[in-house]
Amino acid sequence: MSLTRADFDNPTVLNAANPSAYGYHHGPIPNNNPGYREPLRAAAIDAGTRPLPNVTPAQNNGPYWGQDSAKHMLNMSTLAAPIAGVRLSTINTGVCDIDVNAGQMCGQVFTAQPSKLRHIRNDHTGALLNPSTVNVTGPVQVAGENAIKRFVVTGGWRDARYLSEPGTGPTNGRLDLYATACERIARNDPEFAAMFGTQFHRRPIDAVSLSGKRKRGPTPPPFNPLPDQDKDRDDSPPKPPSPSAGRKSRGTPKKSTGTTGSRPSRPRASKPTEDVTFPKLV
Ligand SMILES: [Zn+2]
Repeated sequence: MSLTRADFDNPTVLNAANPSAYGYHHGPIPNNNPGYREPLRAAAIDAGTRPLPNVTPAQNNGPYWGQDSAKHMLNMSTLAAPIAGVRLSTINTGVCDIDVNAGQMCGQVFTAQPSKLRHIRNDHTGALLNPSTVNVTGPVQVAGENAIKRFVVTGGWRDARYLSEPGTGPTNGRLDLYATACERIARNDPEFAAMFGTQFHRRPIDAVSLSGKRKRGPTPPPFNPLPDQDKDRDDSPPKPPSPSAGRKSRGTPKKSTGTTGSRPSRPRASKPTEDVTFPKLV
């Protein structure tokens, strides 16, 4: 299914709330416990001890917020973060969108939700409420997708400030697919382009080279071709270069002989943080 202008340019998307009733779908996500460090993990970090202990859900936020003071004191005794965090929706960007400095977000990229949640518990302790175990329902998905579409089509993703550049976000994740679709729609629809612009992906300065020469850097370019994943991707060879797409001036595509010097395929931007020690959620 190919996304069209109507998927983005409609009142439901353009008025989508973030957070919605289901929590934050994208950032900036405020951290109500900025700088809070869970004492056991903090001590291990300071002492250089490895492996570091993970922050447990109970340490991230206790189960007693909003209840009576006796239970609250019990909660304090578990060394949980002092203030209740905010809720992250299960439909989210896959990028760590926790605000780390006045609107600048963390930017680490995750393909697996448990890895992302563990990272946030460990490195932004108390920022998020522990997730509910309720399954994702249709309304959550719709609210989340609308909010992320709005984030992309209004340029929020393109212009967001991150401590660690997230590139395209998770490969073939919602950010990636929506930004690619919006750029394709903008190339073919001047009215859409006039309203929303032509660029929706992020363009890390050190990762895009108009000369075609690839630079090695911490963030690979966001436009490596992926076979058959998205026919919208404008790396597909038969299309002549669009005059308006400055970054695409690669000359006339040649018949592939295997030795044309075309850009090598390699894994794309996201470098998911993998981790094998995910603790059991309580
Ligand atoms: Zn983070």
